[in-house]
Amino acid sequence: ASSGSMIVVSNRLPFVLKRTKDGKLIRKASAGGLVTAVAPVVINGNGLWVGWPGIHLEDPNEPIPESDPSDITPTSGLKSNKVVAVRIDPLIFDSYYNGCCNATFWPLFHSMPDRATFKREHWKSYVKANKEFAECTMEALKSLPRVPNEVPLIWIHDYHLMLAANWIRQAAEDLEINCKLGFFLHIPFPPWDIFRLFPWSDEILQGMLGCDMVGFHITDYCLNFVDCCQRNLGCRVDRKNLLVEHGGRTVRVRPLPIGIPFDRFVELAEKAPRVFSTNQKIILGVDRLDYTKGLVHRLRAFEKLLENYPEHIEKVSLLQISVPSRTDVKEYQDLKEEMDQLVGRINGQFTTPNWSPIRYIYGCVSQDELAAFYRDAAVGLVTPLRDGMNLVAKEFVACQINIPPGVLIVSPFAGAGETMHEALISNPYEIDDASEVIHRALTMPEDERILRMNYLRRREKLNDVDYWTKSFLSAMGSLLTQEDHDD
Ligand code: UDP
Repeated sequence: ASSGSMIVVSNRLPFVLKRTKDGKLIRKASAGGLVTAVAPVVINGNGLWVGWPGIHLEDPNEPIPESDPSDITPTSGLKSNKVVAVRIDPLIFDSYYNGCCNATFWPLFHSMPDRATFKREHWKSYVKANKEFAECTMEALKSLPRVPNEVPLIWIHDYHLMLAANWIRQAAEDLEINCKLGFFLHIPFPPWDIFRLFPWSDEILQGMLGCDMVGFHITDYCLNFVDCCQRNLGCRVDRKNLLVEHGGRTVRVRPLPIGIPFDRFVELAEKAPRVFSTNQKIILGVDRLDYTKGLVHRLRAFEKLLENYPEHIEKVSLLQISVPSRTDVKEYQDLKEEMDQLVGRINGQFTTPNWSPIRYIYGCVSQDELAAFYRDAAVGLVTPLRDGMNLVAKEFVACQINIPPGVLIVSPFAGAGETMHEALISNPYEIDDASEVIHRALTMPEDERILRMNYLRRREKLNDVDYWTKSFLSAMGSLLTQEDHDD
């Protein structure tokens, strides 16, 4: 058997639907790296994409619009008959998405259990929503033409959909439809002593083990998952080969670190005009305003730098871009408040007539503009308390085309810190040391900067997002050939 068409299942479709004033539905393209990499596989392979369209559609027969002729994004080729829009009752959706996904799984999987809420209602909604996604995926699977010796692949994404696989597997078995299921988690998978705090943690594992292959960014997350399967469910596991036995099947677990569209960022950096008009060195931070990103710790470290090394006063500024995120959740509102105050306090203390230490943008910047910031910054400061991977670190090095280049600082608690070995590593919890690391970056000799950046850029160019997609597919594909062999 070989792999046939692919069905991608994600919480969001690769575009959102909007309703115009005159009631017409239109598509709005999303342009993330993931969508760019996965869309061609679906489009060229005659596959399907199952997801929520970003709007609650009342009439189940209302057709999904085609893309606008002016749309040149990678999803423009995704015809409406290749899209399955999942419909979920608005109240259930709110409790599934804002409740279970963002108020429970997000903090818990980032090892911040004190921030997590555990509500039975939210969990019930999560179960219902996952059932809805599973049913839509089954409809999609049934609609695919059956080709002898070709097995369709179903690729499920992220913490929103950890239960879907098991139901899909069972339904497909009942209908005697052959398929292979793969899952990729885009956030960390926590250690057992954190994971077990979730009251329904067994169900999560059973859901994910409905897959043939489960992918995570790094080996640590794989090992955490394998450990949880063994300790929660009593599965037999093989840590060396990352295998879990469950329900008479063997599930493969694989580290598949995601990459970025490297060449596209280089192009953006090549054509972006200069943005900084000063000779001051810029330290750059780019993050969603999220408590996992370590923003308060970062500002404190920068404050320490100015206290301990006054030679940087009037020479160095921190440009922090904070993208508004989940703004109706209290935790996020509190964080915004805290950041506003801290920026105000530090600027109040250090500003001189010609200079302010922190430039703070609370808003979203286009990737064209980001590329210029990345290119012209002297230091990229990526210091999350916990982060599945962190794409900003990778985009920063892609755009560092100036000679001599700048310096990347990355937290060991981001997936990126695990793989970007030539970056300076900084523990964000250790404020004094973090300020020392920034000082070291600002004073690093040119030849060392060049050497480190060359290695970092070479790795990200090789392991870009297309490579990631191919690795996932080949991990799924090798499953097919492996089993042919076994037969
Ligand atoms: N980003 C953007 N505009 C901004 C800030 C960020 O387009 O003003 C993009 C950035 O280029 C990156 C993504 O948002 O691709 C952030 O991804 P990351 O993995 O760093 O963090 P996440 O937000 O997924 O936790």
